[in-house]
Amino acid sequence: MSYQVLARKWRPSNFSQVAGQAHVLKSLINALDNERLHHAYLFTGTRGVGKTTLARILAKCLNCEEGISSVPCEKCGSCTEITEGRFIDLLEIDAASRTKVEDTRELLDNVQYAPSRGRFKVYLIDEVHMLSNHSFNALLKTLEEPPPHVKFLFATTDPQKLPITILSRCLQFNLKNLSPQLISEYLGSVLEKEKLEFEEEALWQIAAAASGSMRDALTLVDQAISYCEGQVATDGVIEMLGVPPQKQVYELLKGMASRSVSTILELIRDIAEQTPDYSHTLDSLLSTLHRVAIAQIEPKAADNSYGDMPQILELASLISAEDVQLYYQMGIKGREDLRLSAEVRTAFEMLLIRMLVFSPGYVEPTNLVTGVSADSSTTNESSSATESEKKKNKLTEEIRSPQQLEEPEPERMSEELIEVSSEAPTDIEAEQSSDTEHDGAEVPSARVVDAHREKQLDPEEGSESDKPASAASTGAITLDSLSPESWLRLYPQLEITGIAANVLANSDFQRADSNTIHFVLDHSQSAVFSDELLPKISQALSSYFAVEVSVQIEIADAKNETPAMLSQRVKQEKHVAMVNDFESDENVQELLKHFSGTLAKETIAPNKD
Ligand SMILES: [Zn+2]
Repeated sequence: MSYQVLARKWRPSNFSQVAGQAHVLKSLINALDNERLHHAYLFTGTRGVGKTTLARILAKCLNCEEGISSVPCEKCGSCTEITEGRFIDLLEIDAASRTKVEDTRELLDNVQYAPSRGRFKVYLIDEVHMLSNHSFNALLKTLEEPPPHVKFLFATTDPQKLPITILSRCLQFNLKNLSPQLISEYLGSVLEKEKLEFEEEALWQIAAAASGSMRDALTLVDQAISYCEGQVATDGVIEMLGVPPQKQVYELLKGMASRSVSTILELIRDIAEQTPDYSHTLDSLLSTLHRVAIAQIEPKAADNSYGDMPQILELASLISAEDVQLYYQMGIKGREDLRLSAEVRTAFEMLLIRMLVFSPGYVEPTNLVTGVSADSSTTNESSSATESEKKKNKLTEEIRSPQQLEEPEPERMSEELIEVSSEAPTDIEAEQSSDTEHDGAEVPSARVVDAHREKQLDPEEGSESDKPASAASTGAITLDSLSPESWLRLYPQLEITGIAANVLANSDFQRADSNTIHFVLDHSQSAVFSDELLPKISQALSSYFAVEVSVQIEIADAKNETPAMLSQRVKQEKHVAMVNDFESDENVQELLKHFSGTLAKETIAPNKD
């Protein structure tokens, strides 16, 4: 037996076998079952979605010897002849090859004669938009007054080209492109019936490549079967289609998410071994980013084109929405680079590195920055070269300031407060230079702002909180002098961590009498409190005051500012100042202009060292 291509072998012969197009099927079935028949039907849609297949089934429904029905018997003479394509009253015309008016006249001359065998004479005109104007005019006359025994079934990929006079006389059905999911499921069922082995991922790749056309998909499966020697395997299909494996794209994006340049370079090395088409890989990267962006904003609407929903959702959780947008924007612009570059691989590598280093969360490896900073501090500080170096560092550091959107963890609270109040230097210049001296990863600009804010917030307390030493050495805060204000300064100096620290951070000092300190813990934080924390809290305070202290904590509304509230306020004010600083920076403005970007203000945050 000769091999019959799958697209023909598995062409549906009745409505129940048609994949998808439920909206069209429903109206056709209703019309047939109720015998509300029109004399002209127009099926539109891209190639391979089932236009002529549906028209043939409709012809069968109209001519079945058992009667007009949406479920033809498929046994009678008419049914079998239509299935085999030799029914005398079904006239199939390919308008693309018969565009002349004579052809149409000849065809229509016979319209008036009754069908010789069937109930209706059915004219199936494929690619009807290809007919000439004269042909349309000839056709129009018949369409205006069609004999009752004639049905016209038109199919076209381009309904726009049909004269409105023809369109208005047809019942129009728009066939949709088939979803990759539907195609891959259908291919799976066909291959199962064919008893051929296949890998699901391969079917998704084919479904995506077929872009909505079932006929194309089945043709690709035919090709894959011969390419992979009797089965449909992912590797073979990827090779045959010349597409980058989706896996590579996920890996690249995961590398970006982990901000690992070495991972990305390694992946590109792997890709390079497979004689790749980089612009294809870039396109896949872009379309995946698009799907990730949708999954982030509306997970329900996420597109499952490759049956890879879990991977897309994973990426959506790994990469921030801003980064997705940034990568996409840069990727689109980067296509040009690939085209212009003599070394496509280099351009591709540069593009990915660019995406990475420009993304807000990227932190340059410390050793490199230290090198630069050490240079600038050992050479003459006042030289203009050093100044520009500093300025450059400042800009790149600012671009990279990682976003800290989430609330600080309870454990971190105390540390943070120490940081907040212990870093209020009096001399901004001194701070800046000392920063570059001992730690390259520090952010001079952010610190300058910090210092500013600190000074404005508590000008008279700055000097005191400079020294996070014990009370014994400063003699500043004693048990007697403890007040709601001094409590805010004392808190960061306590040696306490974890939930106990969190409880104290949210506590407002009430009073101290005979070595018992009374606090009020704000209602909102009461859930974390338990009596078991009291010994730890007492111990921290006892060691600070160098005297045995006991603690009582009452849960109520905090009346005074708590250390946590102070921290929050300082942070907000700092943020406002940073945003202002950032917005007024010439280089930032230049960047925004160049990449048609907007500033994601909520992601601007001081660097956490
Ligand atoms: Zn029949």
